[in-house]
Parts: sequence; structure tokens; C-alpha cells
Amino acid sequence: MNYRHAYHAGNFADVVKHGVLALVIEHLKLKTAPFRVIDTHAGIGLYDLSSEPAQKTGEWRDGIGRVMEAGLAPPVADLLASYLSVVRELNADGALLRYPGSPLIARALMRDVDRLIVNELHPEDQQELKALFARDRQVKVMELDAWTAVKALLPPPERRGVVLIDPAFEEAGELDRLVVALSEAAKRFAGGTYLLWYPIKELRPVAAFRRNVAALALPKALAIELMIRGGEDETRLNGAGLIAVNAPFTLATNLNVLLPELARLLAQGKGAGFRLEELGSEAAKGGSSA
Ligand code: SAM
Repeated sequence: MNYRHAYHAGNFADVVKHGVLALVIEHLKLKTAPFRVIDTHAGIGLYDLSSEPAQKTGEWRDGIGRVMEAGLAPPVADLLASYLSVVRELNADGALLRYPGSPLIARALMRDVDRLIVNELHPEDQQELKALFARDRQVKVMELDAWTAVKALLPPPERRGVVLIDPAFEEAGELDRLVVALSEAAKRFAGGTYLLWYPIKELRPVAAFRRNVAALALPKALAIELMIRGGEDETRLNGAGLIAVNAPFTLATNLNVLLPELARLLAQGKGAGFRLEELGSEAAKGGSSA
């Protein structure tokens, strides 16, 4: 396990992932019934942007750095308000020095009745996560292999919630593994909302992955993709995607507003753009910003 999210925290891919996660959690809060957030690949939860790993890549500068400097206007500012409120709260002195991972975003947005399960296998990262949530009775920190966790933790007792599956993509075959995990998870917890993150380097395996998810015929399945440049150099992270299953009915409408603006703001080269596709239907929307 060599991957450390500290090198990438706050990059363009985190902005999309965490922006969507916040929209899903806000939607769950529209009903009073408690829900559970399950984060199968949690990372350390809180990132120091002045640390050596963050400074070494500087990825956050072209992600959350650009967003915080952008002076966003409604409706985009409204759609990102919940997510950015968590970032602002961590950086109350003004300078952008700290960035919340998915566990801390979920923790900040959930209510007293809701629960969070965070799972992380890397021993050092797991210790940091444990320290972050020490004595927090609404959060349970686990150290399972994520592919076991996704089965063992479902269905949640609340029968409502969101499952974030955000692998490190260090091993071959992780796109196929995601499809299998989603299929098994949806059998256990059919009503759950799922968010599955994937990197976009080569375009062809990603298209096959979308087709494989579509073949599961799960309800309200969306592919949400942001490209920061075209896919010519297949060795680079040219874009990132999220599959959302049982997505809130408002999500596609909101993303049709948000994604074009994020594609413009986060572009790093020619061919930047977005894709929003309802899987299982022919309706793919997209656009380019550069
Ligand atoms: N979800 C986090 C966020 O958005 O802030 C980032 C997670 S990072 C992309 C992926 C994490 O998964 C890493 O911290 C890595 O140590 C962990 N990981 C990798 N393989 C795992 C496995 N089989 N089970 C559990 N965690 C794993």
C-alpha cells in the first residue's frame, strides 16, 4: 500500500468528489429519519496543505485553491456552499492551510442522529483517523479490507444512507472490482445511495467500465466526469469520475449547472470538459471548456 492521499488532497478530483458528496448528504437531511455515511477508503480525514507531500505536488493549488479564489456567484456558489463551508471552517484565519477529507466533510454535515463509519487499511493512516475521531460517539473507525467492509457493513441499521467507495487504484483490475462490489452491495442495501470514484487516464477502459455499470441496471445511475484536459497523454490523470447510484432526483439538474463551471475553473489544457450520463439510458450530456 504505497498510495497516500496527502499528496493529492484538495486536487480537482477531490473538489468534484467532495462537492457531490456534500450535495448527497444535504439531500439526505431533507428527511428527519437518521442516515449513515459509510466511507470504505477513508484516508486520514484532515490534510495539512503546508505539509511536505501537499507542497511537493501542489495539486491542491489547481483544485480547491482555484475554487476558493474564484469568487463564485449563484447558482454555482449555492451548490457548493455546504462543501465549501467545511473548508472555510477549517481555515477560519483566511489562508488555505487545511483541507477536509471525505470523513471530515461527512462528519461536519451530518446531524446528531446520523452516524459515520470510516474504514482505512493503511496502518499509519488508520491511526491518524482514529486520533481524529477519538471519543466521537457518532463515528466508528474500522480497519477492514474495503472489499470486505462493503459487504460486512451493509445494510446499515438505519436503512438510509450513502456509501462512498474511493479506492487508491494501485492494483490492476480495480475498475472491475468496483463493478463487482457495487453489484454485491446493491443486493444487500438496494435503497442506498452509492458514490464510486474512478480515475480517467485512458478513455477506453473507462467507457467499458461505464457500460459494465449500466449492465447492472441499477436505479438512478449517473456517470459524472470532469476532464481537466483531453485524453491524449494516457499516462496522466486527465480527469476523474464518480458513479452515483440512487442519486437524489435533483443531482443531475444541479450538476448540469455545476459541472460546466467547474470544467472552466479547473481546466489545465485543451480538451477540458465534463460528461453527465444517465447509465442505462442514451442520454449523455457533455461540454468542453477549453
Ligand atoms: N476518501 C478519501 C477522501 O476523499 O478524503 C480519500 C481516500 S484515498 C483515494 C484511498 C485510501 O484507501 C487510501 O488512504 C488507502 O490507504 C486506502 N486503501 C487502499 N486499499 C484499501 C483497502 N483494500 N481497504 C481499505 N482501505 C484501502
